Amino acid sequence: MNKNTFPHLLSQLTASTIKFGLLILLVLTAAPARGQTQVDPETALRMLNSQQHQFEKGVIKVADNVFTAVGFHGANTSMIVGTDGVIIIDTLFGPASATKAAEAFRQYSDKPVKAIIYTHSHGDHIGGASAFIRDEQPDIYATERFGSAEGVNKAVDPVKAKRNVRQFGRKLSAAESTNRGVAPAGTEDGDRGEGFLSPTVTVPSSGLKTTIAGVEIELHFAPGETDDALFIWLPKEKVLFAGDNFYSSFPNLYAIRGTAYRDVLNWSQSVGKMAEFQPHAVVPGHTMPIQGQEAATTALKDYSEAIRSVYDQTVRGINAGKGPDQLAHEVELPEHLKDKPYLIQFYGSVPHAVRAIYTGLLGWYDGNPTTLNPLEPKIKAQKMAELAGGTQPLTEQMQSALADHDYQWALELSDHVKWLDDADRQLARKVKIAALRGLAAREYNAPNRNYYLSYANELESGQLSEIWF
Ligand SMILES: [Zn+2]
Repeated sequence: MNKNTFPHLLSQLTASTIKFGLLILLVLTAAPARGQTQVDPETALRMLNSQQHQFEKGVIKVADNVFTAVGFHGANTSMIVGTDGVIIIDTLFGPASATKAAEAFRQYSDKPVKAIIYTHSHGDHIGGASAFIRDEQPDIYATERFGSAEGVNKAVDPVKAKRNVRQFGRKLSAAESTNRGVAPAGTEDGDRGEGFLSPTVTVPSSGLKTTIAGVEIELHFAPGETDDALFIWLPKEKVLFAGDNFYSSFPNLYAIRGTAYRDVLNWSQSVGKMAEFQPHAVVPGHTMPIQGQEAATTALKDYSEAIRSVYDQTVRGINAGKGPDQLAHEVELPEHLKDKPYLIQFYGSVPHAVRAIYTGLLGWYDGNPTTLNPLEPKIKAQKMAELAGGTQPLTEQMQSALADHDYQWALELSDHVKWLDDADRQLARKVKIAALRGLAAREYNAPNRNYYLSYANELESGQLSEIWF
């Protein structure tokens, strides 16, 4: 070997190693972590726009005597036409939206309302009942646990209200708005609950089979998103109304607006029970009905399996000694379910579900003694600055993370910099705002996207205190 060849080879090797390293780095920064919901901005927007057809306004004929109004507000409302009257399932958010749906229904039947059934007590399903009735006094059905999902956590209502606004992007500009994952953006919300009518008939946990207006109907107790939920089965028409335990998106097993633990295992079992009926159509609480026995049954089976799989993987990980941060990055949907249109993470997110299951089963503590008494944020920030060689170098790291589009890291560093007395806090705030917007652009999970954008706007407008920033 020529003496001069070696350095040449070495430089070639070094150049290609660097190129390879850069390639890996690019791949690492470009590819989302497993189970996460970030892709390139164009793809994210295209995906969210493609979900839009799921809540396009209109009345869908599900069976000869069954009609579902989609897109009149966030949730769906349905009408079953019987011999001498109709049954209304869920009533939207308030009288304004419900009046429009009721008018649309009257084009198909003008018969009086004999019964209203609430699938569960969330505000987007119960607030417009009065708009469907005129002089009649219908029976109003709900489970014996109706309302149990509300009323808890009242003590933290102020902060839940703020988080709700962010999750749904209620204050975003038209340019920033996309949708809410399983609901359109920009719903009329001023009349929340004003048309609510209290239940008059209690459905026991064992369920109820009855005939209303000549329609055979079964109400089945189905805890899931809430523990007061039921689903409705029409044995003759073979139509199943799933409430919010099923819709076209990976389910919101945890809501970032802040809710108590949703029993994920119950949820999976309730949807599994629905699949056993092999319905010819399933009407979700949100998004378009799925019609055809094969399609509807497969969707329910897959949905139940997906929830169960996330639960089982999390439990296995917990028992293998893994903590929530690690599991949130590891657990993912099984390969054969990942691309099912009703399991894309537009609304619920697998990583958030994992964290919720962890906390639901074990509480906040991850079992690692390091986290029994972690450093308080300010002390940790000071030590991070020392490690970086001072506040200035730490600030520079934060800025270069942003410049490299390494948004999550930029956020984490800005959260350290904000605690430092000798830091440029205004700069840290600006970096956080820009990083939030950068992350938002990549998100196809609507609650994440809406939350990032809303929080960035709040920071920019100065309405958040130093502690929130
Ligand atoms: Zn809902």
